[in-house]
Amino acid sequence: MQNYKTLTREIRKKSFPEIKGKIFVCRMKLFVGSAGVLTIFPRLNFIFMIPKLDDAPKKYIIGLLAHELSHISRNQKLNFFKELNYLFKYWIKSKKFRKNEEIETDKLAIRKGFFKEIYEIAKHRKSKISKYYLTSKEVLNYYNQIKKKP
Ligand SMILES: [Zn+2]
Repeated sequence: MQNYKTLTREIRKKSFPEIKGKIFVCRMKLFVGSAGVLTIFPRLNFIFMIPKLDDAPKKYIIGLLAHELSHISRNQKLNFFKELNYLFKYWIKSKKFRKNEEIETDKLAIRKGFFKEIYEIAKHRKSKISKYYLTSKEVLNYYNQIKKKP
């Protein structure tokens, strides 16, 4: 089994120093996807990882954690009510909103240095949810695009 807590702490320390507050990592079943994040109060965050991931390659796990930490980094300024509004828009109201959130989150993770890991995830994403995320080709294109900038 992977040590999600230690990995999260290492990735956060190295690449997400801007994140403030607590992050709890929980291993549990989810309705969709293989990992998820929930911010309850501005500085109280939970990352969920499904038990199935226990045997996944480390690169894949790192990619998922970097993606979830990117969500937390992006959502840091939300208060409780804004977070509720966010969850409502994400899950119920707007597919476009969800897609935009996931794409911007993948892009942040790539800018943070996790191109290879995000690429790996994009290659193996289940078709049912893949419409919300960057394809592996888009991940590569985005990486090449930001690499060129000084
Ligand atoms: Zn996400």
